[in-house]
Amino acid sequence: MDGNLLNDIDKVVDADRAHVWHHLIQHQPFQTGAPRIIVEGKGMRVWDQHGKEHIDAVSGGVWTVNVGYGRERIANAIRDQLIKLPYFAGSAGSIPGALFSEKLISKMPGMSRVYFTNSGSEANEKAFKMVRQIAHKRYGGKKYKILYRERDYHGSTIGTMSAGGQDERNAQYGPFAPGFVRVPHCLEYRAQWDLTGEEYGIAAANAIEEVILAEGPDTVGALCLEPVTAGGGVITPPEGYWPRVQEICRKYDILLHIDEVVCGVGRTGTHWFGYQHYGVEPDFVTMAKGVASGYAAIACCVTNEKVFDMFKDDIEDPLNYFRDISTFGGCTAGPAAALENVAIIEEEGLLENTTQMGDYMMDQLNALADKHAVIGQVRGKGLFLGAELVSDRASKEPVPEKQAQAVVADCMAQGTIIGVTNRSIPGFNNTLCFSPALISTKDDIDQIVASVDEALGRVFG
Ligand code: PMP
Repeated sequence: MDGNLLNDIDKVVDADRAHVWHHLIQHQPFQTGAPRIIVEGKGMRVWDQHGKEHIDAVSGGVWTVNVGYGRERIANAIRDQLIKLPYFAGSAGSIPGALFSEKLISKMPGMSRVYFTNSGSEANEKAFKMVRQIAHKRYGGKKYKILYRERDYHGSTIGTMSAGGQDERNAQYGPFAPGFVRVPHCLEYRAQWDLTGEEYGIAAANAIEEVILAEGPDTVGALCLEPVTAGGGVITPPEGYWPRVQEICRKYDILLHIDEVVCGVGRTGTHWFGYQHYGVEPDFVTMAKGVASGYAAIACCVTNEKVFDMFKDDIEDPLNYFRDISTFGGCTAGPAAALENVAIIEEEGLLENTTQMGDYMMDQLNALADKHAVIGQVRGKGLFLGAELVSDRASKEPVPEKQAQAVVADCMAQGTIIGVTNRSIPGFNNTLCFSPALISTKDDIDQIVASVDEALGRVFG
């Protein structure tokens, strides 16, 4: 690490403590405790201001740095592009924008157009706006409602929070936008129907149809879902769920919007996107975190030609286009970084590695569940896994949030960074999250799982 920087680190810590408003945390404990500044990263590992090494099991805290730290070729591609042309927005295109769009679409059969933006929230907002505009253009403003699912998360803006399925995140920020309607979650572990397996999946999808019928199908424009719910508890859909969801959308002429902000670009293994595991044919796919693995801020709202067509049919109509701009959608660093990111995933076989290492990690976490009764269920896909902690396996009573946090803190003290979900059950925060980089090896996973084993032993005895 840079010696000069370390000599000044106390100043950095003081500046951070005095002036940075951190995401996602309560500040008082942070002010009195020791702030952690992450100074450097390489591969799967990061170093803090004390020079302490950590293995990062959550890819930069929130499932983002998929290809790992220290990728010089991404940095070089950004540098070269910035010197040539950093930015241009509006009606003109850029070379990396065009080339990355082509590359991305080659990974998404059935899709055709890429709308660039900066964050997952914003990508979702774009899709919501397109749905609303289509309602005006095609259905006299009537088919404007957007369905979203309990436990799913789509962002931090008022529009995306209106489609937020985690009530505690939304508390104190209302009122929200009208026209967003909630459907039940599909987590069989906390079953809402007395069924199992495929029958459960079909029942959970049928529950969406019930909401559509109650609202009136001619008022529902779109259904927005995460392929594997992330912060809401790492929820993989049951068998039978997605085919039935697709069928219902087609039956009622409802556009299907898949939020791939977490799952997109390799995280779930084998396929580039989570929905591709389930044979789904979406109309919108939004993505952010893994697009450039956090090396640049880039997000995309991708549509099929059916959606795009609805905006181009009448050139004489001055209102007949998507009247929207995202200023920093014109930054060229994003697509330049994203092109390299995808090339790395291809050249290093990271989709295959993610599947193999994900299966391995799932086995290792299930072996932990044999040892620690506090693990109620291990779920996930690829290198995106969760372990739900319960005080009692029969009642499935979630462990108190403090205990789940104590596991995270214990791992951190051991030099292993893991995560925990976002109060998806009101009052509880009880699913440990793992999303190590797609470059993970068995040794990395063994190290992560060994830390969790020790932490569970210490916290729960
Ligand atoms: N959708 C999902 C599924 C997410 O997990 C997130 C962020 N965690 C978002 C959307 C919002 O992305 P951003 O924070 O980039 O706005």
